[in-house]
Amino acid sequence: MVVLGGGIAGLAAADQLSRAGLRVLVIERSAQAGGLHRASHIGPYTFDAGSIFYEQGARLFDLAPGLRDLCPTVARVQRRIAPDGTVRHYPFEPREWLDQPLPDMVRTIADLAWSRLTVRRDGTLDALCRKRLGRRLFESSGLASYIARFHHVPPHEIDESFFFHRMAFVARATRPGGLARMALRTLTAASPRPRPLLHVRPREGFAPIFARIVAHLAARGVEFRFGEELFALHRKDRFFLLCTTAGTLRAEAVVSTIALDSLHKVMFGTGSGLVSLDMTTLFVSAASLDPRLGNVLYNFHRAGWWKRATIHSRIYPEPRTGREFLSVEATIPKQGRHDPGAAFADFQRHMADLGLAQGLALEGHERVRNCYPLYTPGSNANIRQVLDRIAGAGIVLAGRQGRFEYLPTSSGVIRRVAEELDAARHLTALSGRSP
Ligand SMILES: Cc1cc2nc3c(=O)[nH]c(=O)nc-3n(C[C@H](O)[C@H](O)[C@H](O)COP(=O)(O)OP(=O)(O)OC[C@H]3O[C@@H](n4cnc5c(N)ncnc54)[C@H](O)[C@@H]3O)c2cc1C
Repeated sequence: MVVLGGGIAGLAAADQLSRAGLRVLVIERSAQAGGLHRASHIGPYTFDAGSIFYEQGARLFDLAPGLRDLCPTVARVQRRIAPDGTVRHYPFEPREWLDQPLPDMVRTIADLAWSRLTVRRDGTLDALCRKRLGRRLFESSGLASYIARFHHVPPHEIDESFFFHRMAFVARATRPGGLARMALRTLTAASPRPRPLLHVRPREGFAPIFARIVAHLAARGVEFRFGEELFALHRKDRFFLLCTTAGTLRAEAVVSTIALDSLHKVMFGTGSGLVSLDMTTLFVSAASLDPRLGNVLYNFHRAGWWKRATIHSRIYPEPRTGREFLSVEATIPKQGRHDPGAAFADFQRHMADLGLAQGLALEGHERVRNCYPLYTPGSNANIRQVLDRIAGAGIVLAGRQGRFEYLPTSSGVIRRVAEELDAARHLTALSGRSP
């Protein structure tokens, strides 16, 4: 049995299949496991391509013994730059309502109530957000500009499913019970609830975590081939023939966790038509950053291309350098270019205009491929067709990349992998055979 991809989904699949007694071979094109969870070491700094937080019970920690102990805990202090340029709690603090002049508050509540009654869902994110929040709040909160910045298309060109996948806080908070709780907390001026500490990757990067998972799975018989990329896959009778950069191999079953569009290309020679957005991640150091920025900062302001920054120096203090350091993320528009110079100039200008940072320097950058699936209205039918076409050829698809699913946490990825493998019951019939 071959598992394509050695990211979190591939490792979780290898774990589950090897536990079921199957012989598993993992093919991964990078030199190491972990996929998106990877760090870059530049001078005295360690940066990350994505984010680095894991909840106490994260399923990742079940993939090998002792992983939780490798990961220190921190308080995640999330802030956002609001449309007026002030630094606020993220996602939203009910007491902020009280900062508005009374007539504005009344207008916002009236708009919200009216929108609930009159706006009809039409399958787009714009209609659903307006229905749940009212247009006034949707725009004045900066959420509409954040969504447009994230996708590079306006919310009426995004499928409403994004609301449930990515905007869980807004989805919960705008249910009738959520609104009632928020009103109560506003009126009682309750303080923000303390959040549980989160684990973060080890100071030196992700290598200790993934080395331990790979060693643990290898001891159970899982074979790994790193630095090997799949470029063609065909079915031949009962078998699959896989052509990789190291040669051809035969497998009775294939579980794919690589990007759905890449798999479509290697199987059928053409793209699937599904669009994922890449991301430019800038690795930045700073002489100083405003102390109010917390350690994770979101951009809800009208200006600036960047959407989120993780301030590593506040998670892993490095007093010897005397500088702050952070990863800054900006999604790349469909058919756009990875242009770190322009993205950095924009970030630098934006932070200077707001007076939030001084002495910024670009230390490095990375293009992170296939970061976010783009769900345009009606794209669900297209996704279903692609999944059916590939699954019809007998391949089991799993994971965030493998199924083109927006899964924000590794625990969500691992849970979905388990569900997909449980559903593919034919795999367990292969138990005990060679790859
Ligand atoms: C920006 C960002 C930040 C995130 N931060 C967090 C976080 O802080 N905490 C959290 O719990 N979750 C986080 N997630 C969510 C989730 O945990 C990750 O997206 C996770 O890495 C998804 O795992 P995956 O295995 O599906 O995909 P990937 O990590 O992308 O792994 C796919 C693997 O397949 C390999 N591959 C691709 N093509 C081929 C080929 N042709 N041949 C062989 N190998 C191939 C790739 O090299 C890669 O290793 C984040 C997601 C994003 C996008």
